[in-house]
Amino acid sequence: MKSRWRNEEAEAMVTRYAQQGVGRDLALRVYTSRLLGQDPLLVLHGGGNTSVKSSAKDLAGDEVEVLCVKGSGWDLGDIEPAGLPAVRLKPLLKLRLRDKLSDEDMVRYQRANLLDPGAPNPSVETLLHAFLPQKYVDHTHSTAVLSIADQPDAAALCAEIYGRRLGIVPYIMPGFALAKKAAEVYEADPSVEGLVLVKHGIFTFGVDARESYERMIAAVTRAEERLAKDRKRIFAATALPASIAPLHAVAPILRGACSEPDAKIEGAWRRLVLDFRSSPEILAYVNGAELERYAQQGVVTPDHTIRTKNVPLILPAPDAYDLGAFRTATRAAAQSFIAAYHAYFRRNNAGRDPQKRELDPLPRVALVPGLGLFGLGRSKKDAAIAADIAENTVLTIADAEAIGRFEALAEAELFEMEYWSLEQAKLGSVAEKPLAGQIAAITGGAGAIGAACAALLKANGAEIALLDLDEGKAREIARRLGGGAIGFACDVTDGASVRQAFEKIAAHFGGLDILVSNAGAAWQGRIGEVDEAILRQSFELNFFGHQRVAQEAVKIMLAQGTGGCLLFNVSKQAINPGPAFGPYGLPKAATLFLSRQYALDYGKDGIRSNAVNADRIRSGLLTPEMIAARAGARGLSEQDYMAGNLLSREVTAEDVAQAFLHQALALKTTADVTTVDGGNIAASLR
Ligand SMILES: [Zn+2]
Repeated sequence: MKSRWRNEEAEAMVTRYAQQGVGRDLALRVYTSRLLGQDPLLVLHGGGNTSVKSSAKDLAGDEVEVLCVKGSGWDLGDIEPAGLPAVRLKPLLKLRLRDKLSDEDMVRYQRANLLDPGAPNPSVETLLHAFLPQKYVDHTHSTAVLSIADQPDAAALCAEIYGRRLGIVPYIMPGFALAKKAAEVYEADPSVEGLVLVKHGIFTFGVDARESYERMIAAVTRAEERLAKDRKRIFAATALPASIAPLHAVAPILRGACSEPDAKIEGAWRRLVLDFRSSPEILAYVNGAELERYAQQGVVTPDHTIRTKNVPLILPAPDAYDLGAFRTATRAAAQSFIAAYHAYFRRNNAGRDPQKRELDPLPRVALVPGLGLFGLGRSKKDAAIAADIAENTVLTIADAEAIGRFEALAEAELFEMEYWSLEQAKLGSVAEKPLAGQIAAITGGAGAIGAACAALLKANGAEIALLDLDEGKAREIARRLGGGAIGFACDVTDGASVRQAFEKIAAHFGGLDILVSNAGAAWQGRIGEVDEAILRQSFELNFFGHQRVAQEAVKIMLAQGTGGCLLFNVSKQAINPGPAFGPYGLPKAATLFLSRQYALDYGKDGIRSNAVNADRIRSGLLTPEMIAARAGARGLSEQDYMAGNLLSREVTAEDVAQAFLHQALALKTTADVTTVDGGNIAASLR
């Protein structure tokens, strides 16, 4: 591993932060923290922590000795000075005299000694940083160091690699006891440059930011050099089917098997979103004949547990010619994973006071021979975090197996970590949104109604795929929505284009739960005279377009087996024809019945089908020019024309989106038509 320290960059950061009143000590602490945090082989997703001992003025103006240490909720990769809250150092050091200290008391005491009472909680490893006397202390979960530290003979191996340069600390869960033990190991030989924490990670320290950082890089490099020596062949491959099923076919089966019916609300599911990874390293790992042995032991460092659970779900290889067998085996594997999780919880919770509350038992990582690995999460973001950690785990275990044997922590230690109240707090306690874990596709996604639906479903927690003829615009809207929304081209009049679009959604998110079939365009002509070609063109888009996307959506929903929701944008024309508007109204009327047919045919599969019957919305269908012309023809102002309904209120794309959202949430509603037109008696349903 190469040092990324650059004098010019370090000094530039000192100068920049000086303008904000931040001193040199803290500015350089920010600089090297970011160097560490930006390398996934050192630190992932909020893991690791750093500190500097310095001085600061408290609110009374007195100069006090402080420890600036990473605050919870911050990521080293993009940390700011505010992410390293200052804690009074002397009171922290006094705690060394205690024999015991509960985690809760430790957190309270640390908070009570913050210079800024509004600062985030100092890291749970604060006392370890405080008890080491060096000015700068760096801590990472380096992949290479873990490949060494996760061996049955880790201590002997470390002694061989590091001699007396690093002290070795046996595994103890983070907190007061570990801080004391680490300090004792250090004090036994204060010439050490750092400490290896068995089955956890590595600390280095130094008189300045550069020394501490460079010692980390040097220690990691020595681990890498050892891992390159005397390697044995790893992961002898198991036999695979001749043809492996594609990702888009596998993902919905996995996703469905890893969903749980909501015990409180009939028809509701707790679903997860998927994030897929593959590479030669991942394939060698998941295709290994001994996968069950090396992959099922536990995490490579304890704080991964809250993101990935202790072990992954292992599936059989998906045979492209026998997806039925893969589905059956996947369901059985998921069920036994869930049963094993319940048993693990009961075993480790027995006799505890107070009793712990069980977390959801669903897997967060799935390994699929022949294909790769999946991260699973309640959002795409969480799924990607789990996948990042799983990828890293593959590298760590591969190297560990190449020079010896990977050995994880004992189950009881893993349980302590998974159910540690301080770790649980890292996950936050924000209430979940009603569509969390659900995936929505919206056709005509770049139009006014499509974009409004996307924004509203997203605000309610759904993952969003925008499909539109105009790929550039779909992408642009997805980019503006942010939060992982994707946009791409789809021509709903072309079967191949529709199939590809839905395969992309299944591959990217793992499946689909909500379809808003919204793409459409208007054709006019008096029905007795209109060219048949025009009528057919309109049917192609305004009827068959809906049928094609609904068919592809249902295919995915059936593979998942967790129901779903089809939502069709039908027009007022479907109920109440306008003069010379037959070419538009006729296919829309057919689409209204299409919605009912889906409700009838797939109700038993939990798939609901509903329609919104909207009128007079400013959009690509009703342009400013058309509004001006129609208002003029009726002798009305544009405003009066747009509000020409019983309530005299203009109906907006957002109003239509609200109706779709309601239908997506109403679990007991199917074959419904919701009217959003401000009131029009002639178009009201009987
Ligand atoms: Zn750690």
